[in-house]
Parts: sequence; C-alpha cells; structure tokens
Amino acid sequence: MRAAYCKLDCLLVVLSSAAFFLCSCQTQPAKVPESNAAEAVPEIGTETPRVESVVATPEPEPVPPLPEPKEPARPLSGIFEQANRIGATAQAKGDGVWLIEKGGRKLELTEQSRMASLNGIVVFLNEPFLEKEGAFVLSDSDFEYTLRPALEPAEIVLRSKVIVIDPGHGGAEPGSENKSLSLLEKDLNLDVSIRLQKLLEDNGYKVVLTRYNDRLVPLEDRSRIANRSNAGIFLSIHFNSALNKEASGIETYLLTPPESASSNDDAIGSSETSYSGNSFDSLNFELGFRIQSRLIADLQREDRGLKKARFKVLKDLECPGLLVECGFLSHGKEAPLINTPVYRQKLAESLSHSLTSILMSSQIVPTAR
Ligand SMILES: [Zn+2]
Repeated sequence: MRAAYCKLDCLLVVLSSAAFFLCSCQTQPAKVPESNAAEAVPEIGTETPRVESVVATPEPEPVPPLPEPKEPARPLSGIFEQANRIGATAQAKGDGVWLIEKGGRKLELTEQSRMASLNGIVVFLNEPFLEKEGAFVLSDSDFEYTLRPALEPAEIVLRSKVIVIDPGHGGAEPGSENKSLSLLEKDLNLDVSIRLQKLLEDNGYKVVLTRYNDRLVPLEDRSRIANRSNAGIFLSIHFNSALNKEASGIETYLLTPPESASSNDDAIGSSETSYSGNSFDSLNFELGFRIQSRLIADLQREDRGLKKARFKVLKDLECPGLLVECGFLSHGKEAPLINTPVYRQKLAESLSHSLTSILMSSQIVPTAR
C-alpha cells in the first residue's frame, strides 16, 4: 500500500506541472526530453486534467469469488461421447440433424438414416444413426470406419507413385449399355482410362492400365496386375445403368470394412472377414472422399455419394483402391452427355486433378501396405 500512495503523490506532482505547463505554453511546442515526453505532457488541446479525480480512495483488495456449488459432472453419452473421444464437437441442429465437427471437417448425421454428408458430400453409413438407451449413437463400425476417417483424415502414405487404372469389363463382357445411342460401357471405360493415362503421364507419373484394348481381363487378374506393378493407387473406371430411368449421377466406392454392411446391402453388421484391401480402410475413405468431392464440383452431376462394396477388384489389393461409377447410361440426359468426348475429357481431367493432388501430398514409403 505504501507503494501505491507514493505513486499517487508522484502523479499529483506530474499533473500539477502539466496544468501549469498547459497555461503557459499553449502555442509553444513542448520542450521535454523525448524519453519522458509521453508520460509528462498531456496532448495539447485536450481538456485540463481534473486533479480532483486522482484523489480517490484506494481500491479495496479484490475479494476472491465464492466457489460455485458444484453440480456432479454428467458423463457424456451417445454421439457426444463418441465425438469427444476423437476431439470433435457434436450438436443437435434440429429437424433430426446432428453436426459433428473437427478442424475443417463437418459431418452431418440424420436420425434414423444411413445417409450422412461430409463437407457437403454424401457419405453412406454402415448402419442407420439410431437412438439407443435414450441417446443417438453411431454403430461401433461407423465410429471406427466413418466418423474417425471423416474427421481425422488419414495421412497419405503410399508405397509408390505408380497409378494403376482399371477400365472395367471388356471383350465378351460389355457392362452397361445404351442401345439407342449404341453405347457400351466397356468402350467408355477404356476411353476415359486412356485420357486419364495421358494426363497423368504428362504430369510425369507412371501409369499402368489393366487392359489397353477391348479384351476381357478376369477380375482377380486386375488386382494382381496392380500388385505386380507395385501400384501406389488403384482406380477402377465404370459407368452405371439402372432400371429406374430417373437414376443419375456419380458415385465412388471403397472396399467395405470388416464387420460392416455394404452401402447397397441391408444386412447390418456383416461378419465377412478382412481382405488385404482392408489394410487401407482409412486411406481408402480419404482418397474416395477427395475424388468424389472433386468429381461433383467439376462435373456438376448428382452426388450419389461415397459408398462401400466388396467388389472383387478391390478385395485383394496391396494398395489403396477405389471404383468410380462415372454416370448412368440409362439416363435420358446423362447418357448423351457421356457420349461426348468433351464430357469424357472433363471426367478424366477431374480424376487426374484429384490423383495428382493426392500424389503431391503423399509420403512415399516403399514398404507401406
Ligand atoms: Zn461396370
């Protein structure tokens, strides 16, 4: 307290001097040593300091606030607990929609539904988002294989920068068709694959195709070619078809993780065993999300989502692998679009941009698998 009074005394002296100084030198610049100028001279033209204001009683010692009565902490439950476990936040947005956030990633869940969205891109859950014991909660499989890879993106570690592109079908197996436009899926798959090969090779990457012409390559040989080529990434190219003529848009598939149901399968909690391709579940999710996001942004087609399936070509891979369905040959407007070389070039460019950006941000570890 002695120190505080001493400070007040000094301040009074300084302010009195300042008041005198103001009266005598309104038009003269202040001649004060520079180092003290700021504290010694009030700004010219401001009000005369009110000396009485400094003669104040010293402030009382702050009284520490009384501790608030503690409520017993309620343990987090359901989706709140799951989000908390990975350092994310969860909030109910109303109308049955929940938002789970971490960093720049936002996963929207809808009660009772398997459809979710990650930063605006449709993502299929392995099981519906349901209420259990009074709280909405993701299945264990979705916590591990959807929530975690969605909000904690996998580091991109690849064993090489070799890209293996797989033009689906071929030879005696045409795949989907559009008879009125004379379109065969196998030809379109090969066309987009060759365009993509050229773009990637122009960027300096090594590319291997599972077929370079119209011949049938057995499914097991396609993943074998990727494994033998020491592929860093495997991408299978397809076009879709459906009895429902309204169906249109683009979807990207990754291998279904173990103990999970595929997106087009209602059987929940399938107990199928793990394949070598399942070593990359988190990475598959991240690469699939990036590829699907870019395709939807570039092509402006309907987003059919990031889906999961146990496709034979993806099961035995020793690198991350995805299968892209680039559009519907059965759709009245999409098929004529796919029939144009300009559109197929756009598709190839979008895939090339995604793959190039993935490879540029990747770390190459030759033993990674
Ligand atoms: Zn196909």
